[in-house]
Amino acid sequence: MLTIDATILDAIVAHARQDHPDEACGIVAGAIGSDQPTRHVPMENAEHSMTFYRLDDAEKLKVWREMDDRDEEPVVIYHSHTATEAYPSRTDVSFASLPGAHYLLVSTRDPETTEIRSYRIVDGVITEEPVRVVEAGVDQHAVQSYMFGQSPAAVDYECRAGN
Ligand SMILES: [Zn+2]
Repeated sequence: MLTIDATILDAIVAHARQDHPDEACGIVAGAIGSDQPTRHVPMENAEHSMTFYRLDDAEKLKVWREMDDRDEEPVVIYHSHTATEAYPSRTDVSFASLPGAHYLLVSTRDPETTEIRSYRIVDGVITEEPVRVVEAGVDQHAVQSYMFGQSPAAVDYECRAGN
């Protein structure tokens, strides 16, 4: 399961919408071993492409060094699909080299509804996981769980208190 602050998720979606129809990409860093994404770093898609993304080598080096300095790691690696569903492409899988990371996909193909799904990608095997959106800035005890199904219409919504 990916647990992520609503403010960070909103910023990721805003980035994806802004770069549409090109794919947007970036990371959310967090303390090493914490599994908590806390620092959103929007990055440039070096390909400026509607169907493909690649991190810029120089920017990647800079961002990765910054994480080293802060004892952080990339907890979330995200990018957008602008014409297709939020599911990793064959290319995405071949570039997924961090078994501990959450690969977050955002689809902006529908202007009204944003599809957000998260995956683990280990040895070429894609496993979808639930996304839990935490309203940390609003109420620490109000937690919303989203499980994104195969289509944007099949979203289960659950609200829990006291967790
Ligand atoms: Zn992709």
